[in-house]
Amino acid sequence: METAYRKTKIIFTIGPATMDEAILEKLIKEGVDICRINMAHADHAWTREIIQRVRKVCDRVGRQIAIMMDVKGPEIRTGDVPETFELVVGETFDFTYGEGLGGVGEDGIRRVDVNYPGFANDMSVGDTVLVDSGLIRLKVTNIEGHRVRTEVIISGPLGNRRHINLPGVRVNLPALTKKDEGDVDVGIEENIEFFALSFVREPADLEIFHKYLNDRNSAAKIIAKIEDQQAIENLEGIIKASDGLMVARGDLGIECPFEDLPLIQSRAINACIQGTKPVIVATHMLESMIESPIPTRAEVTDVSNAIREQADCVMLSGETTVGKYPVECVQTINRIAYRMEKAETLPIRDDIHLTLPKSKMLKSAALLAASLDASIVVFTRAGLFAQKLSSLRPQLPIYAFTDNPVLFKQLLIMRGIEPFFMEFNHYHEMTIQSAFALLKEYKWCKAGDPLVVVTKQYAGENLIDSTQIRELE
Ligand code: PEP
Repeated sequence: METAYRKTKIIFTIGPATMDEAILEKLIKEGVDICRINMAHADHAWTREIIQRVRKVCDRVGRQIAIMMDVKGPEIRTGDVPETFELVVGETFDFTYGEGLGGVGEDGIRRVDVNYPGFANDMSVGDTVLVDSGLIRLKVTNIEGHRVRTEVIISGPLGNRRHINLPGVRVNLPALTKKDEGDVDVGIEENIEFFALSFVREPADLEIFHKYLNDRNSAAKIIAKIEDQQAIENLEGIIKASDGLMVARGDLGIECPFEDLPLIQSRAINACIQGTKPVIVATHMLESMIESPIPTRAEVTDVSNAIREQADCVMLSGETTVGKYPVECVQTINRIAYRMEKAETLPIRDDIHLTLPKSKMLKSAALLAASLDASIVVFTRAGLFAQKLSSLRPQLPIYAFTDNPVLFKQLLIMRGIEPFFMEFNHYHEMTIQSAFALLKEYKWCKAGDPLVVVTKQYAGENLIDSTQIRELE
């Protein structure tokens, strides 16, 4: 059965270009699945207002989307400077801590503070410091107390509070900073569905975050953003410890040699599919569309590639925060996704090693549905059935029904899953019939369509996993 809807999910980052209700309405109608709020640029009052606004527009449009709060994690930034420093190749330049506004030191050398007290401890002579997405490159020549002396290798303008990358350096900042905790508390209070944690370096970072959420009774899922070399070394462990992964290509392309990026992307996507966890490809997908109504051919190919590799989601950042053509960006992804998904040939992925009997049943259900040219209807309370079915990447519709309102929106991240919220009846057959009625009423399916139903069902006293062949009446 051909899938009539787009299987690849779209995440957009909200900002000045998209925060008006009229634009939000257009984006939701065009089919965005998740709204990302980047806490690097958001205060609490704005965040709350935006969450409520998105939900209000969803209710008006009659289509729900999820909310993902992206927390900054252990980020290092420079402090303020009295005026932009034009750094010169070969210049000696100092990074300091706790000295206040940047300026010229007693020895005549220009300096700027960093916001991290352990900076000098973590650095070694010969390390590289990258400022402002790698636009400025400096090499460490000497370290004394809190002062890290460098030589400018690539020059550029240094303004206030610029982002610093330290490729290959193990930074001893906590996984979740005090600022992050304050941000996360807002997300918990507003019942958002996802948190994305920046600069996850090892599984323990995620355990800390899971504990933070569990202690506060939050059911939100955690997406690990992989952004540096340490995360790549710990990739499999991070995937296991998270609820999903974001390939954050912006910082990854600075922290790692950029020619490694396509290989890292492929490895991360495959490892997630194997581990049955959702994976997002992020950053610079349609960068030129910040200014232009049509994408470059290279961007079309990049988006196609992520879809061909079967990522769950593609993500828009600057394109929808400050871009001139946010709606056109979503339309562009729609066109590319429909085209690429139609070109897929394998009925299901045959490289997913499912070992549990339950998982093997799901694989047979997907194969059965493929051989009957049927759609799958799955009933799920914790989301695991849907997650595993999604990871098999079958070439058929998967309609996932849940009675859990938070999970309903969390299912929006999974490739190929079309989620429905519905109260479940104590009598399973009544639940199944209600789901069928809904599919028919909203024209997802028609009478005579074959369906493979995956559900738990009572056999006497026992609740058993079952796969059933049905036909819509
Ligand atoms: C990235 O670096 O690609 C990314 C998504 O993170 P942020 O936008 O938070 O820098």
